[in-house]
Amino acid sequence: MKKITLFISSLLAISCANTKSTESKSASLLSTYSKTITESELKNHLYTISSDSMQGRETGSKGQKLAGQYLINQYKKDHIPPAQNASDYLQNVPASALKTRKGEVLAPSENICAFIKGSEKPDEIIVISAHYDHIGIKNGIIFNGADDDGSGTVALLEIAQAFKIAQKDGHGPKRSILFLHVTGEEHGLLGSKYYSEHPLYPIKNTVSDINIDMIGRRDVEHAKSNNYVYVIGAERLSNDLLNIVIAANEKNTQMDLDFRYTANDPNHYYERSDHYNFAKFGIPSVFFFNGVHADYHRSTDTVEKIEFDALTKRTKLAFAVAWELANRENRITIDKK
Ligand SMILES: [Zn+2]
Repeated sequence: MKKITLFISSLLAISCANTKSTESKSASLLSTYSKTITESELKNHLYTISSDSMQGRETGSKGQKLAGQYLINQYKKDHIPPAQNASDYLQNVPASALKTRKGEVLAPSENICAFIKGSEKPDEIIVISAHYDHIGIKNGIIFNGADDDGSGTVALLEIAQAFKIAQKDGHGPKRSILFLHVTGEEHGLLGSKYYSEHPLYPIKNTVSDINIDMIGRRDVEHAKSNNYVYVIGAERLSNDLLNIVIAANEKNTQMDLDFRYTANDPNHYYERSDHYNFAKFGIPSVFFFNGVHADYHRSTDTVEKIEFDALTKRTKLAFAVAWELANRENRITIDKK
């Protein structure tokens, strides 16, 4: 009996040691590839995406399509393929799905969808989303939307590149990752609504959505430091997701996570960005956000005002969360409806 007990405890000790070494290997790989997310690359991308030549990226406009082409070119350059059934990275969103709140019908537009296939559980999908439309030109003035949501748009490019470099080194994600640049957000989350109703991969296989909308500035509540991010909605459907965000931040980015908008929020931020179209189908979703500021939805939301150190750190947090969601042994549990 004693021998058997000894044998079992040795086995347990070996398995614990193996789990620990797998965890520390994953943490060290995460740290390696996180370093490929750089301030200078984010800056280069954002100076282009929020330049006057993109004309404020109004849904369906020539400027938005130029921005979309820029994103596609980056994915091609990084050898990241399109998602399935997204010919040349495009999921066409028909005009019938692009009605404004006032009932006006917009110029068809497109969601842009790039994809990295998982090595072990390819059918399980992590979505990382950001809207690439903004509000265009008003009275001849271009609204560049550098923070809203140029910042999230370029974060996706850098996160995708980091996963791709890891994959090339033989450390690709175990689950698949869909990089989803949605259109029509400013007119009522239309592109993400269309995606969630016409998903390229089954909704039941969609593990989580990490949504990034405005992460390049600070708000008045954080006037003294930009070392924070609002985390919205993580625990609404899954405590696992909340715990992953907290642990990822502790280990990697050490920011002040501000949860004030996650529940009982008169602003209803949880319902106001693209992750909500995933959450309403029961997919655990988290929204990273810097809060509104004086330049929100004004022509003064320009790239010179972006705080690139904060943008880089918040991008790294989203990458760390995606890394854990994609590589952990078990799919996160949904414990609330
Ligand atoms: Zn936005």
